[in-house]
Amino acid sequence: MHPRARPEIAAIHPYTPGVAQLPGANRVIKLSSNEGAFGPPPGVAEAIAALATRHHRYPDSDAVALRAAIGARFGLDPARIVCGAGSDDLLFLLCHIYGGKLADGASSELIMTAHGFSIYEIAGRLAGCRVVKAPERALTTDVDAILAAVTPATRLVFIANPNNPTGTFLPAGEAQRLRQRLPPDVLLVLDAAYAEYVDRPDYDPGTALVDSGGENTVMTRTFSKMFGIGGLRLGWAYGPAEMVANLNRVRGPFNVSLVAHDAGLAALAAPGWIEQSRRHNATERARLTRALDDLGIPVTPSETNFILADFGSAAGAEAADAHLRGRGLIVRRVAGYGLPAHLRITIGTTEECDLVAGALGDFAAARA
Ligand SMILES: *Cc1c(COP(=O)(O)O)cnc(C)c1O
Repeated sequence: MHPRARPEIAAIHPYTPGVAQLPGANRVIKLSSNEGAFGPPPGVAEAIAALATRHHRYPDSDAVALRAAIGARFGLDPARIVCGAGSDDLLFLLCHIYGGKLADGASSELIMTAHGFSIYEIAGRLAGCRVVKAPERALTTDVDAILAAVTPATRLVFIANPNNPTGTFLPAGEAQRLRQRLPPDVLLVLDAAYAEYVDRPDYDPGTALVDSGGENTVMTRTFSKMFGIGGLRLGWAYGPAEMVANLNRVRGPFNVSLVAHDAGLAALAAPGWIEQSRRHNATERARLTRALDDLGIPVTPSETNFILADFGSAAGAEAADAHLRGRGLIVRRVAGYGLPAHLRITIGTTEECDLVAGALGDFAAARA
């Protein structure tokens, strides 16, 4: 006899992180985890160094200074912000708080999109939810399909906007329509991990919906993508007061480390970081998209710092991936997301994008 995990645990597929190493390659370029093209913002290294003799102290449990800085940077009330060890931390907690079993013992339901971010499924199943995947239209969230999937057992709807791994986004009007048509007791989680990259007038990362809504909408954000400190684990949620209170009841009291806290402050303070990163990303994303288009490799229109490229078949994607690896270029297979014929490629520096385009040019030429 030994302790047995609840039966739903064995059915969970562990998260597959982006590959980080290629044995034998002398230069590796990692374009597999959307970590931002420029590394950590200036000031972060100094902020971390300044903590070198203070690691024995617990961090501020309430992350007061960091929440104030996030609030100031994004025009939000710090009292309605909760920080986490990455936004994943908060996504898991939302499932535990609002999902799980219903009063009659049946599983509640969590709805996500067909190619939604895989953490939602892991977190939902851990909490005891039944996870339902709503079909998409052209790799884009389909509001009507989500609404059609709603049952009396539905408690949570997760949308990544823009979505990973598809790169597509849901316009503000559609997100608003979804919120209006969902039952008021269903929590809508808007995961805006790539919000900083979006430059469209018809986009709301979730702030407007949280502000206009009742008690039923929350937005999550991260420091892991444009802010370039994924290794330190820092994310945050913005929601209504009662939800914030619930998250504060159950989160780890020291879920944001001393280092993550001060690095987050420094990242937010770096002048022009968002604007510069967004401009670079838009330019290079358009250039790489065009280069792949010219090679006959279709790319899904992206609002993020990655592109989803279609190699026509699983064998094609596998061969392209092998070819890229041969040049030290690591991108992301997304077969686990039900996209075996695609590769997800992070927008890196100008040189890195050129290397990807060059390698795929040779790949296409060799197969022509
Ligand atoms: C990268 C990513 C996150 C961020 O996760 P962290 O835990 O904050 O590093 C969340 N959602 C999506 C869709 C992502 O791609």
